[in-house]
Amino acid sequence: MTAFQEQAAALLGPKGFLTDPAALAPHIRDWRGIFQGAAIGMALPASTAEAAALVRLCRDHGISIVPQGGNTGLSGAATPDAGGNNLVVNMRRMNRIRALDPLNNTIVVEAGCILADIQSAAAQADRLFPLSLAAEGSCQIGGNLSTNAGGINVLRYGNARDLTLGLEVVLADGSVLDVLGGLRKDNTGYDLKQFFIGAEGTLGLITAASLKLFPALRRRATALVALGDIAAAPMVLARCRAATADQLVSFELLPRFGLALARQHGGGRLPLDHPADWFLLIEAGSPSEDIDISGSLERALGEGMAAAEIADGLLAESEAQRRELWRLREAMVEAQPREGAGIKHDISVPVAAIPAFIRAATEALAAHDSSLRPLIFGHVGDGNLHFNVLQPAGADPAGFQARTGEINRLVHDCVTAHQGSISAEHGIGQLRREELARLKSPVVLAAMRAVKQALDPDGLFNPGKVL
Ligand SMILES: Cc1cc2nc3c(=O)[nH]c(=O)nc-3n(C[C@H](O)[C@H](O)[C@H](O)COP(=O)(O)OP(=O)(O)OC[C@H]3O[C@@H](n4cnc5c(N)ncnc54)[C@H](O)[C@@H]3O)c2cc1C
Repeated sequence: MTAFQEQAAALLGPKGFLTDPAALAPHIRDWRGIFQGAAIGMALPASTAEAAALVRLCRDHGISIVPQGGNTGLSGAATPDAGGNNLVVNMRRMNRIRALDPLNNTIVVEAGCILADIQSAAAQADRLFPLSLAAEGSCQIGGNLSTNAGGINVLRYGNARDLTLGLEVVLADGSVLDVLGGLRKDNTGYDLKQFFIGAEGTLGLITAASLKLFPALRRRATALVALGDIAAAPMVLARCRAATADQLVSFELLPRFGLALARQHGGGRLPLDHPADWFLLIEAGSPSEDIDISGSLERALGEGMAAAEIADGLLAESEAQRRELWRLREAMVEAQPREGAGIKHDISVPVAAIPAFIRAATEALAAHDSSLRPLIFGHVGDGNLHFNVLQPAGADPAGFQARTGEINRLVHDCVTAHQGSISAEHGIGQLRREELARLKSPVVLAAMRAVKQALDPDGLFNPGKVL
């Protein structure tokens, strides 16, 4: 044991500091298995005071800190580099719900709380914590905040940033920045919490958060529609938003190709038998029993059909049917690896530019190599698409993966031409660092470096990520 390891073990106890290679193994590679690193150990602080003392110890010994939540991130941001001078700081032992105030509509949670546990705690108090994504059973709120996670309800409730009222953060000098507050209005100077949200652990260690709650939803209406043409998607969105008094929570794009894959790989049947190329999974929700949310959505869809924007559609008539529709979307995601390698992009463009972007990007890919198979789906109501490019049928997966850089550039150049972002949800991490440097304005990059320099002058937190 090094002197650092001995002192960390003394500080955190046997449950709080691990060096066993078998215990470390799942924490030094990323969820998708793209990045593999090394670590001097893994620390699991159990309180803010322990986390602060740990940061001071790391600073004194020149050990870098890689904050880690559920390690479900998709950009390699929670994976240490291969140098071996990093300490993984996993927050899972800090998993207490500190307070829930149903009248203030707030919940104060520690950073290591699993997202699904926060949702359950809110539901028990007849409230809704709306952040929701497929990894919610494993990801932690600290990771959600550090990636500014999105998910399926952003359209109505915003992303993690919009749901945050305050934070508690251990800074690089080991001091604790307590801006937890539960206030919806507070204009007393800089809004410091914003620096740490979406910072991917590069500016400090989040130990707790104060989050917004909402009235629980009592009625939901869920529809699957076949689009006449992708160009109609923004019009259908506008119609549904207006007709439901802006109670639309999800507006997801599903391609025919993806649904075919879902069926092929055992994901059930397609309840809407229509030869359209594009489908929408639409959900509206109301906290009031008195609002006929189904009727409103049905009316919007009827108007969309009359205007030839929608070719066909159905409304889920039971909770079982609603789940079946959502299961289709999940099955599509799960089916992808069975088709071989895929090169992923998580992009956003202005909602109105979605049809033009999809056309331009698919044409550019086809011109480059007509055997590529784009699988495009996602949170189109937010202008966010998961633009995945699957390997040509029967191709060698490793050979295809080696083309990642070339295909990334092609898609990202199209995103830039449509005033979009190369990371809508998943962050930059290690995966998109070069692309960020290539595409972001030098002025923005310089301002980001200035923030990093001010808050973490010695580069203690998550080196090699984002910048
Ligand atoms: C099946 C699946 C579906 C997904 N769907 C979505 C989706 O719909 N929308 C979406 O946005 N993302 C999605 N993701 C990505 C991922 O779940 C999110 O990025 C999630 O927010 C990461 O949380 P985590 O706890 O796993 O963080 P980790 O992966 O452990 O870490 C992510 C980043 O946060 C930092 N970090 C973690 N905890 C802290 C802390 N306490 N303080 C400071 N920094 C910290 C890490 O250093 C790293 O930079 C999905 C992932 C999977 C596997």
